[in-house]
Amino acid sequence: MFENEIKAYALKNAIEFGKADAGRILPKLFNHGLDRKDIGKIMPTIQEIVNEVNSMPKGDREEEYDELKAYVKEHEEKEKDLPELPNAVDGKVVTRLPPEPSKYLHAGHALGFLLNYIYAQRYNGKCLLRFEDANPEKVSQEYVDMDLDDIENYLGIKPASIRFVSDDMPLLYKHAETLIKKGKAYMCFCSQEKMRDFRHAGKECECRRQSNDENMSEWNAFLKGKYNEGAATLRFKGNMQDQNQVLRDPVIFRSVHARHFRQGEKYKVWPMYDFYNPIEDGLMKVTHILRTNEFDQRVPLQDAIKDILGLPKQTVVQYGRFNVIDDSTEAKAKGREIRALVESGKYIGWDDPRLVTLKALRRRGIKKEVFYELVKQLGLSKKEANIDFDMLAAISRKIIDKDTKRYYFVANPVPLSIKQSTESAKIKSVSLPVHPDSKETREIKLGELYISAEDKKENAGKETRLLHLYNIEMPKRGPNAEVTGIENKQIPKIQWVSGHVPAKIFMPDATWIEGYAEEAVKDLKLGDVIQFERFGFVKLDKITKGTYEFWFTHQ
Ligand SMILES: [Zn+2]
Repeated sequence: MFENEIKAYALKNAIEFGKADAGRILPKLFNHGLDRKDIGKIMPTIQEIVNEVNSMPKGDREEEYDELKAYVKEHEEKEKDLPELPNAVDGKVVTRLPPEPSKYLHAGHALGFLLNYIYAQRYNGKCLLRFEDANPEKVSQEYVDMDLDDIENYLGIKPASIRFVSDDMPLLYKHAETLIKKGKAYMCFCSQEKMRDFRHAGKECECRRQSNDENMSEWNAFLKGKYNEGAATLRFKGNMQDQNQVLRDPVIFRSVHARHFRQGEKYKVWPMYDFYNPIEDGLMKVTHILRTNEFDQRVPLQDAIKDILGLPKQTVVQYGRFNVIDDSTEAKAKGREIRALVESGKYIGWDDPRLVTLKALRRRGIKKEVFYELVKQLGLSKKEANIDFDMLAAISRKIIDKDTKRYYFVANPVPLSIKQSTESAKIKSVSLPVHPDSKETREIKLGELYISAEDKKENAGKETRLLHLYNIEMPKRGPNAEVTGIENKQIPKIQWVSGHVPAKIFMPDATWIEGYAEEAVKDLKLGDVIQFERFGFVKLDKITKGTYEFWFTHQ
């Protein structure tokens, strides 16, 4: 509990004062929802982390703090913003989002897309969406639809236009022919193994010596489907001895006979990423490419292709990649394996709460503002950033806590019968604030009371406060309890309901917690995010036969 927050404060403390101090960290945790009754439980963790931080070399502290600072809640925290973009002219900036519609989108994609989108907006430019659907075996309409829904309806990105690489095949073929005519591309009939070995050894194969005419006639036969998959390729004539192996005559077209979801069986020959990418960027008049630095090695190849074909160059801004870390072991599985889990029914869908897909985050109630804020915090740092659900939750909490309505929910409800022996026991109704900072209240009529079985067991025999109501002596067994007073003292405080609706909450591990929610939840609309006090934030997902079904957002 709160490990990341504790570590962030301990590191900040150590950087500012030379040494972290447990006493300085504890009060900060109340801003993150730490309950006073849990102080005893959390102190050993704080002490342990403080010791760890104090024994760390000084240089490491700053680096670690950089990764964790999103967890720190400080009033003096300055509003951060993204740095200026090099070579940006107001009204002229064009950026692009280039998803391959072959996989689900996760938080890392969202951040990359938003960087491109936010910069285009900042300079009153355009952000274009390009589906890179040049791999017929992997791409599908299902992913196009899913990606569009995530990009437009969840992230709120409005692309100026949408384009598919596969619609430009005739043009891509034309550029390939230009390369062949200039002697800068050749047909190769070597096996994959031979090609790999030769590229590795820096040796040229015999195909490289064919004349331009021979290459052109083989290329035409290639396009007509003369060669089976793997039997022939078109290669860019680079330099087989270049230090950068990407330049050692890479394949730029290969034969794929699989049916394409958009083009059907029209094309048997498909381009590789490094070939279509510079052409498409030129075609779309992109001015700025913001991307992760994994592409470093490929830049010289793409530049060489641009030079030969006379295509414009863009300003490339590189940033460190976003690693999306998922705690659950199953979700460590990537793309295809997740697909198998979804298709076998083991996961409920791409929005299974065990995943960090955008679909799952959206259904759980993570708002798009969380990604906009995270983009600002990470900026264009060259360092890789690890993003996990806790980080998203910490930002989300900061955004929604101040105006999210709070309600009561009791898990595994058991009845509580109040003996009408005192005046305070005879209260007929009570108004509760919907948020500590708000004057808005909800009125609750007192009738049959329910509390959670866990709260009852934990506090049996002890004086306990029913929040905003009165204090009781918690019965050890049976429902009968007596009111002991109405003053708010330092005793355990628990939620209760009187007048209730059946409710259940879908947890991050895909299990349900059932109980009763107070009747005020009837005023909620589907999709509303609220907080169940001492339980966490939840989003109303649907109502089935009178049962309110929520998804757990985060604590
Ligand atoms: Zn060859």
